Amino acid sequence: MQAAGAPNWSYGLLTDVGRQRRGGVNQDAALALGLTRGGLFAVADGMGGHAAGELAATLALEALSAHYLARRTAPPVRLAEAVQAANVSVLRHAVGEYMGMGTTLIAALIDRGALIIAHVGDSRAYLLRGGELHRLTDDHSWVSEQVRLGHLTEEEARDHQWRSVVSNALGGEERVRLELFGLRLRAGDRLLLCSDGLSSVVADADLLELLTRPLAPDSAVRCLIDAANDAGGPDNITALVIDVRLDLHLPSYDLPAPQHSGPDYVDALLGAQRGNSLNTYLLLMLAYFTLLGVILLPIQRVLIAVIGTALLAGILLVQRLALIHRVSGRLGRPSAVLGSAMIVPPRTVPTVPTASTVPTAPASKAPPQHSTPDNGR
Ligand code: MN
Repeated sequence: MQAAGAPNWSYGLLTDVGRQRRGGVNQDAALALGLTRGGLFAVADGMGGHAAGELAATLALEALSAHYLARRTAPPVRLAEAVQAANVSVLRHAVGEYMGMGTTLIAALIDRGALIIAHVGDSRAYLLRGGELHRLTDDHSWVSEQVRLGHLTEEEARDHQWRSVVSNALGGEERVRLELFGLRLRAGDRLLLCSDGLSSVVADADLLELLTRPLAPDSAVRCLIDAANDAGGPDNITALVIDVRLDLHLPSYDLPAPQHSGPDYVDALLGAQRGNSLNTYLLLMLAYFTLLGVILLPIQRVLIAVIGTALLAGILLVQRLALIHRVSGRLGRPSAVLGSAMIVPPRTVPTVPTASTVPTAPASKAPPQHSTPDNGR
């Protein structure tokens, strides 16, 4: 599919109810929205009994796109605010028969040469670049935490009875916890956003093989869905593949740096982004006083102009280098590279797991009427 007015990418999107849910509902939802300088893409995997999961996923994506389109703040801030708006929308509707509903959300914003990912839950983003598959997100799930702590292997996690228990979701609490980070895109990059109906059924090595095939995005998503169904299709399956065509410049704002300590509260993230605006303010002040010095002190104006300009140029250069360093940081982690050898990134988790770290109903994708958190997805 080719979006009008946004020639830098093409995408394919498919969602499927799965094999074991024939006749049942599809609680996954997806979004592909063309923007002037790029696009907003997202996958949501709803949870809750009956129609609740379906509603949660749909509400989240509607609120995400509506809020993103309505605001004019810097894209990283706007994306984080849109995720919070989606959270509030799910929370507000979680009454009566919809009590306890929630949804995961993986959102990818393409803005010229930049990719900004917002992530809540266990839907995933992958990047295929140079024949290697990079998993961009760590699941916010109980088993994923156990793998990071070294208590479970990746294989054990895949078959664990609690593999479907997420530790973070939209609709869980008033302020959303999310991961937000930016990357520089390159021509030839292929992005995959998917629900766990794909990633927990088809191994990363097989995803790599399927994504590397020379297929257009809409054929690629068909292959991915078929692979998950061939492996039993125990859950709803959603795949969104985006191909990046050209190298474009990075936008002028700072891209959010990856948080290696997991999801953070939206307020903390927005605070960090506003810190970047303070930098801009300080630079403007420096430029202003340099100009003022040049005008008011004509004898030393050459000296003032040289010092002022050198300071400005120096600060801008340092900021640029820091940005490039941070943006390449996420992919720079060797352990994040998936290919023939798949290693889960080692990451310290500050809390020792106890029974209480197993999330309670709102964060569990199992319908509330089940006592074990595993089935029903
Ligand atoms: Mn699912």
